[in-house]
Amino acid sequence: MRTVKSPNLRIVGEQARFDQRLTVFNRAARGELGEKVRQRSRSDYPDALGRALAGRDRPDNSLIHHLIPAVDGPVNPQRAPVDPTHISWKVKQLARFFGADLVGICELEPAYIYSHHGLRCHVDMGVYGQPVELAHRYAIVIAREMDLGRVRASPSYILHAEIHLTYAEVARTACQLAAYIRELGYPARAHHLRNEDVLHVPLAVKAGLGELGRLGLLITREFGPRVRLATVTTDLPLVPDRPVDLGVQAFCQMCRKCAVNCPPKTIPAGEPALVRGVEKWAIDPDRCYTYWRANPEKWPDCSDCIKTCPWSRPNVWYHRAATWLAARSRLSHYPLLWLDDLLHGRRPNYKVRWLDYSKDW
Ligand code: SF4
Ligand code: SF4
Repeated sequence: MRTVKSPNLRIVGEQARFDQRLTVFNRAARGELGEKVRQRSRSDYPDALGRALAGRDRPDNSLIHHLIPAVDGPVNPQRAPVDPTHISWKVKQLARFFGADLVGICELEPAYIYSHHGLRCHVDMGVYGQPVELAHRYAIVIAREMDLGRVRASPSYILHAEIHLTYAEVARTACQLAAYIRELGYPARAHHLRNEDVLHVPLAVKAGLGELGRLGLLITREFGPRVRLATVTTDLPLVPDRPVDLGVQAFCQMCRKCAVNCPPKTIPAGEPALVRGVEKWAIDPDRCYTYWRANPEKWPDCSDCIKTCPWSRPNVWYHRAATWLAARSRLSHYPLLWLDDLLHGRRPNYKVRWLDYSKDW
């Protein structure tokens, strides 16, 4: 992969920290997206599988809920001497051993730490609304692939199950890796969906896992946006990776497939906008989330943008050849997109009958 000095994003001002209380999930729960969305955001999933993986009313039934306190723990007082180059290699090997598909290291930038706590677990801990204090030097970002077939079933209950199964797996990987680092004698804290202080996507871009796409998610060379992320922050001395240039920003300028296929037209088809000091495509999270909650009898959320993105295809030799070409030649982008449209359609309509899981099961 072609590495670059800094991420392929135009940073044009101060990157202000983001208040976790302002995420769309919090605003929806407070009723800022309307009463119907508020009620639906607070009610539990109608299917048993969804409740087992991410339920609200009986969270003890979900594995990830038990990983909330597992993000941190005691540090071994006997610190092992480490060589930063060797331990960086080893940490990546162990992340894969624990279940990561991709892993990268970067320095922890304060702009990518939430300014204030705003998760449900923070209410229980009595720190909701308190400033986030996190002084670690490095971030290890971990990605886990989501199953292609289940993503192609978007929007559906089986897609929802896949999302939360992957979140639980990447959370377990991060907690296990953080525990390993603490046993080496260095502070380390895992950050996952249910207990996190950092924004994973910009850290993943900085750590060389991929680039930011028009759809507002990380696009990796291997799996496109079809991944879920977790992070470990630590003071273990590490060697950061460099960001990569996959050609994503240039490809997105021309492609717009996610914008065409987003049911509520949440993803901009035009030019990037300025968001907290960075020029990027800004999706409308309110419209996205409202669509997730629009029809609880049929789906609990959506990944239509992920399933239609040309970078989401199976990680086989011809996909790797296409992404290799896209990273090196802007001239290849038009024929590659034409080919993707030919093979998958401009508006892909995948038939995934064998995954016919419904809420009635
Ligand atoms: S998840 Fe669905 S609604 Fe949200 S941006 Fe993607 S396609 Fe649009
Ligand atoms: S679908 Fe096209 S425009 Fe959207 S993120 Fe993927 S490559 Fe970029």
